[in-house]
Amino acid sequence: MKVSVIGASGRIGSAVSFLLAKEPYINHINLISREKSLNKLNGIKLDIYDALAAEGKDAEIEVHSENDLSVVEGSEITIIPAGIPRTNNMSRHDLAKENAKIIKKYVGGISKSCDTKLFIITNPVDVMTQKALVESGYERNQVFGLGTHLDSMRFKVAIAKYFGVHIDDVRTRIIGEHGDTMVPLLSATAIGGIPITRLPYYEYLPYQKIVDFVKSGGKRIIELKGGSEYGPASAIVNVVKCITNDDKRLLTLSAYLDGEIDGIKDVCIGVPVKVGKNGIEEVVPIKISDEEFKAFKHSVKVVKNCWNEVKDI
Ligand code: NAP
Repeated sequence: MKVSVIGASGRIGSAVSFLLAKEPYINHINLISREKSLNKLNGIKLDIYDALAAEGKDAEIEVHSENDLSVVEGSEITIIPAGIPRTNNMSRHDLAKENAKIIKKYVGGISKSCDTKLFIITNPVDVMTQKALVESGYERNQVFGLGTHLDSMRFKVAIAKYFGVHIDDVRTRIIGEHGDTMVPLLSATAIGGIPITRLPYYEYLPYQKIVDFVKSGGKRIIELKGGSEYGPASAIVNVVKCITNDDKRLLTLSAYLDGEIDGIKDVCIGVPVKVGKNGIEEVVPIKISDEEFKAFKHSVKVVKNCWNEVKDI
């Protein structure tokens, strides 16, 4: 399978290229960036080849400038983490206008000559996913964003640590905006299949503290090491794997809503979706508590406001 990574010179772009190159089903990766970053891409390519040699794995890695996006043709998935990242004290929304121009440039260029699935990472990811959908004119199943998948992983870690259980025993998710209004779903949280609310010690769970910790997870990593890469890159690989293997797993990605959840439409936001070989195969409208739903509707409003600021860029 061939994939393309646009913005491969960045933290997330290079980390995900490295992880994907090691996956057994990947045999070709296009690393794409601006002209000024081609030397860096060539360095990343050589470094990955060394790692592949150590692992006894083969894959073709090509370096391309953004000036020829036709090379994307034949890519099952095109991953886009290109964009300016947050620095200290910036919100994800502060990036919206600048990053909307970048998404428009790349998605416009790709969709002219290629058919691929667009997987958007650039923040604010929900709004950028909608920008990609609109600018590409692709079908909605083909265009999705990382959404709250990474936040769900962060929530999972916090729950596992609190209860002192194996990470793999925790099932949980966060829906809504990949941002301050994200909505953790206690109603969809279980350990070893047992709803969290029925477990001993649940009543002592420092819920708000955990939620605040998860919400500020990205900011904390920026302060400590400049930005996150292993977390997002591994979350991206999860999704790519799911599509390649036609796994039909329920992940929480940014997807376009057309009324599936209580009539909410014309917004891309983090919701549970079934992921398989066609990308987003179905939006899954799960039952959540009234309080969670109220918070989700607020999150939708915030994302729509941001979308209104960038839709005409
Ligand atoms: P980074 O290390 O600064 O990399 C940014 C990438 O974008 C580089 O390849 C850079 O290319 C490219 N780029 C920057 N400005 C550009 C422009 N004007 N035109 C074209 N390309 C440009 O940032 P990062 O940490 O990898 O983060 C990338 C994006 O992912 C950010 O928007 C960040 O907020 C977002 N993110 C999303 C999630 C999520 O869960 N969705 C999590 C973390 C981060 P050059 O090398 O040429 O400068």
